[in-house]
Amino acid sequence: MINTIGFDADDTLWHNEHLYHNAKKIFSEILSKFRDADTILTNLNKTEVENIAYYGYGIKGFALSMIEVALDISRGQVTSEQINEIIAISRNMLKAPVELVPGAEATLKELADTYDLMLITKGDSFEQERKIELSGIAHFFRYREVVGEKSEKTYGKILSQYNLEPARFVMVGNSLRSDVLPVLKIGGQAVHIPNEFTWFNENASREEIGDAKFAQLENLSQLPDYIAGLE
Ligand SMILES: [Mg+2]
Repeated sequence: MINTIGFDADDTLWHNEHLYHNAKKIFSEILSKFRDADTILTNLNKTEVENIAYYGYGIKGFALSMIEVALDISRGQVTSEQINEIIAISRNMLKAPVELVPGAEATLKELADTYDLMLITKGDSFEQERKIELSGIAHFFRYREVVGEKSEKTYGKILSQYNLEPARFVMVGNSLRSDVLPVLKIGGQAVHIPNEFTWFNENASREEIGDAKFAQLENLSQLPDYIAGLE
């Protein structure tokens, strides 16, 4: 039976992607005299994904991507004031308060009575640790892992590090690509809780999903009943 429940953090336990969503809107407004918003955002999304290989995930890499795109879109005409405004976007993101998803605290509190809870979040460790501290829910987790990428290899390594059996592990998250599919591949179970704001790069294609078997819940509050049903 299940003994450990893994939780993704960004857009599963607390809101995150809306910060990027708002940032992109402000960014395209700053550059609006150079190009239309669609072109700017298409460029930024492409650059953002390409730059993961260099910077990993997180706001600092996103800031560099915005500056790169601003220089490119404006053909070098972007002003120092505009660059300053772009830096301010990312600084405000780095200072943003952590807002929990409705039901997060009550759900963790209930599940922590019976199960070991593990927080598994990917990204920049400075940014993620700050959010974990501010979240007010860190104490519910027996294990906390900040990883560079959520792959089969990463999950396998984490579970073996703590001597946990995949068959007794269930992972909960908003991303099919990061939270669901790799966990199923190593023999664990997974619960997908879609979020209105999910980064486009976290969506999995129909091909990637294939005939993967996982549960989908509307919100975190449904999780305790679902887990109880597994037993
Ligand atoms: Mg997430």
